[in-house]
Amino acid sequence: MRVKEQLLSLKPYQPGKPMEEVKKEYNLTKVVKLASNENPYGCSPKAKQAIVDELSQLAIYPDGYSAELRTKLAAHVGVQEQELIFGNGSDEVVQIICRALLSPDSNTVMATPTFPQYKHNAVIEGSEIREVPLVDGNHDLENMLLQIDENTTVVWVCTPNNPTGTYVTKDSLVNFLNKVPKHVLVVVDEAYYEYVLAEDYPETVEFINEYPNLMILRTFSKAYGLASLRIGYGIANAELIRKIEPAREPFNTSRVAQVAAIAALDDAQFVEECRGENKEGLQQFYSFCEELKLPYYPSEGNFILIDFNRDSDEVFNALLKKGYIVRSGNALGFPTHLRITVGDRQQNEEIIEALREFVQ
Ligand SMILES: *Cc1c(COP(=O)(O)O)cnc(C)c1O
Repeated sequence: MRVKEQLLSLKPYQPGKPMEEVKKEYNLTKVVKLASNENPYGCSPKAKQAIVDELSQLAIYPDGYSAELRTKLAAHVGVQEQELIFGNGSDEVVQIICRALLSPDSNTVMATPTFPQYKHNAVIEGSEIREVPLVDGNHDLENMLLQIDENTTVVWVCTPNNPTGTYVTKDSLVNFLNKVPKHVLVVVDEAYYEYVLAEDYPETVEFINEYPNLMILRTFSKAYGLASLRIGYGIANAELIRKIEPAREPFNTSRVAQVAAIAALDDAQFVEECRGENKEGLQQFYSFCEELKLPYYPSEGNFILIDFNRDSDEVFNALLKKGYIVRSGNALGFPTHLRITVGDRQQNEEIIEALREFVQ
């Protein structure tokens, strides 16, 4: 069988160790997973109820256009209904963009390290990949501009950036959008939008009409706590959406995901509480880092990247033995860091205690 040659260079996605496996392996009664930036508070009870109410409909295909969610979300975000595209997670919107715009005669520009799915999907499409190193954890937008040429079709900006948690300010983003040639799609991935508190973080949605080459990605997986249901979306001007829609599978988001997302949008208070708790959780980690003089990146997401000044896997394994699953920086391009998802107050206290024992 002749698989596309570029697939030979890729590994299947390596998820964190499953909690049950860790329990057995290390003989633990409790395991805490702070590895995938999941919401420690779960999801809104309204979303749960909506899911239960939908169970009688499982035999029926979902609405492929997600009409009800579309109406609700358009009003919520403040855009037209035709300015949205839904995906099986925003991961799938990344895939759709790559299918629609990338080919072996194109190139695509992105930061490194950043969210790995941009590169992964670009490799599958056979596109040339131009990676621009972060500077102090931040996107180097000037150098990204320099990498753009007439064959560039997509440039990716992840803000807050996974895994650093850093963000692009409004002024920098506008300056960048003004300089990117119009034939290049700028994808601004705002998976952590709901957690952001920085005042100079842009309301990027306001720019979609001014910049017809702009696409924003958001998701219900993080602050809304619906990661397992797989639903995310893209926001862009209607013509662009119409052009890429054929690359989307007809029934790519499930009924259950659609109703849960609708109900989640009705519970603004849940998201607001999560944002507040996350802010305090980050503060717990900042205090710890400052006390022990560990370098870290101030984060606008629900995770923090901390430099332990030694091989990431060493710290990772020490935590794993105690029942804490985090993300080793080795797999993220930061070989001496760990990326830790902000948990609830107690989880944060416990993991900080475990880290303290190890570091001291
Ligand atoms: C988690 C994440 C996503 C993917 O989220 P989905 O679950 O596929 O919606 C996209 N981008 C970034 C930066 C992420 O961290």
